[in-house]
Amino acid sequence: MKHIDEAKINSLTDLNVSEQEIDGILKKTRLLKRLTLEESAKLLSVKDAFLLKKIYDAAAYVKNAIYGKRVVMFVPLYISNVCANSCLYCGFARNNKLAVRKKLSAQEIKEQTEILLKRGHKRILMVAGEMVSSQENVDYYVDAVKAIYEAEYKGNKIKRVNINVAPMSVEQFKRLKQSGIGTYQIFQETYHDATYKKLHIAGAKSDPNNRLDAVDNAFRAGIDDVGIGPLLGLYDCRFEILAMLMHIEYLEKTYGVGPHTISVPRIEPAPGSSYADKPEYPISDEGFKKLVAVLRLSVPYTGIIMSTRETAELRDVLVNLGVSQISAESKVTPGGYEEESSCHNDKLERQFSLNDQRALSEIVKSLLSQGLIPSFCAACYRKNRTGEHFMYLARPGAIKHMCDINALVTLKEYLEDFAPLEIKALGCELIEKCKSKLDNASLKVLEKFFKNIDNGIRDEYI
Ligand code: SAM
Ligand code: SF4
Repeated sequence: MKHIDEAKINSLTDLNVSEQEIDGILKKTRLLKRLTLEESAKLLSVKDAFLLKKIYDAAAYVKNAIYGKRVVMFVPLYISNVCANSCLYCGFARNNKLAVRKKLSAQEIKEQTEILLKRGHKRILMVAGEMVSSQENVDYYVDAVKAIYEAEYKGNKIKRVNINVAPMSVEQFKRLKQSGIGTYQIFQETYHDATYKKLHIAGAKSDPNNRLDAVDNAFRAGIDDVGIGPLLGLYDCRFEILAMLMHIEYLEKTYGVGPHTISVPRIEPAPGSSYADKPEYPISDEGFKKLVAVLRLSVPYTGIIMSTRETAELRDVLVNLGVSQISAESKVTPGGYEEESSCHNDKLERQFSLNDQRALSEIVKSLLSQGLIPSFCAACYRKNRTGEHFMYLARPGAIKHMCDINALVTLKEYLEDFAPLEIKALGCELIEKCKSKLDNASLKVLEKFFKNIDNGIRDEYI
């Protein structure tokens, strides 16, 4: 597989490391410095509970130093489960004869978006299977993004559409960029060549390099917010994490900037897939926690995304250790959102099972109770603070107050327009606490925005 030196990674997956070495590396992380592959490998090799605690403390420190108390909220929108590939772990695989196929029309996509707007969502991750013709794919995606941005509920509109869809050519990515997408997300699934070939048995996705090239194509097309990730459970997770870090090194060397986000999906049971019921390399919650913390320390300025595949309990822990974006009340079924919020995801059209079924308002409540700020902000993307420019601002910590203000404004809007009374009270309490920590200039800006919200003005940001 391109960019991945398997022999080197294998030599790093289980190292003997002293406490002194770990302390030295953690000291570096507290300066918010990016780690080398070898340093990340050493942290990943730690098994001792006392040293693990030190890693978690450092991850919590870095998370707070860079992202403050903010946690960005988004919701996935599945638009199609028609797929030409056969990924052995996925409910949408073309050989899954049980799957009921659905490809939403632009009108249906708009209606689904309106349901999400009514619940207070502002950021969507659009997800689709892959059709045979890449031209057909891109035409469909462009129309879908347009339909999402057109949807409206009482003046509320979706602020940012990220996408997780099939690879494309540079020209096709340029078209998608024009449609206004935020991040382009693509998971390599596994960086282990033999495992990749064993699990992707048909369709364009069977070539692992085609998938890696998609990331390059997106960068070349000027999409500088790109998201990557492994699907954890397919192969040894230490290998996967180190290989992904190697992929990131390649991207940084080639484009001057790494991925905007990393996702850490763990494999879940999927209808029609006996493989997904019993993955070959399952990873424990404790192992997963370590891996998220090591990623936070290795690439401190890269967002980490966690989906509702994980349980509410684990997500509540990991938002403090490194996760910066979480999804809420997801349905992994095209057309799965209904006017009345429901927990069902159990139809044959779904892609895989989900563990956190809480409504957005419940997740907001839980974050607020922990002193965290649920954020619906998309200001950086809308102000063109993306890619290298975003990293430039993020590195010296300059972005911190700007983000706090924007996040608090979006939270106040959510509380005013969508939150039940009990949650509104919790939110207002947290806002007051946050205000007391702002400097005078920031406080003045915030108060002006809040006054405007009281006067009915929405969607202001800096
Ligand atoms: N079809 C496109 C692709 O494969 O890149 C994009 C959408 S696909 C629905 C999104 C992601 O779902 C895949 O990249 C894969 O990592 C994840 N996925 C597939 N089956 C899964 C399962 N059983 N459990 C958890 N995640 C799964
Ligand atoms: Fe299709 Fe993506 Fe599922 Fe593979 S993971 S079968 S490409 S939807």
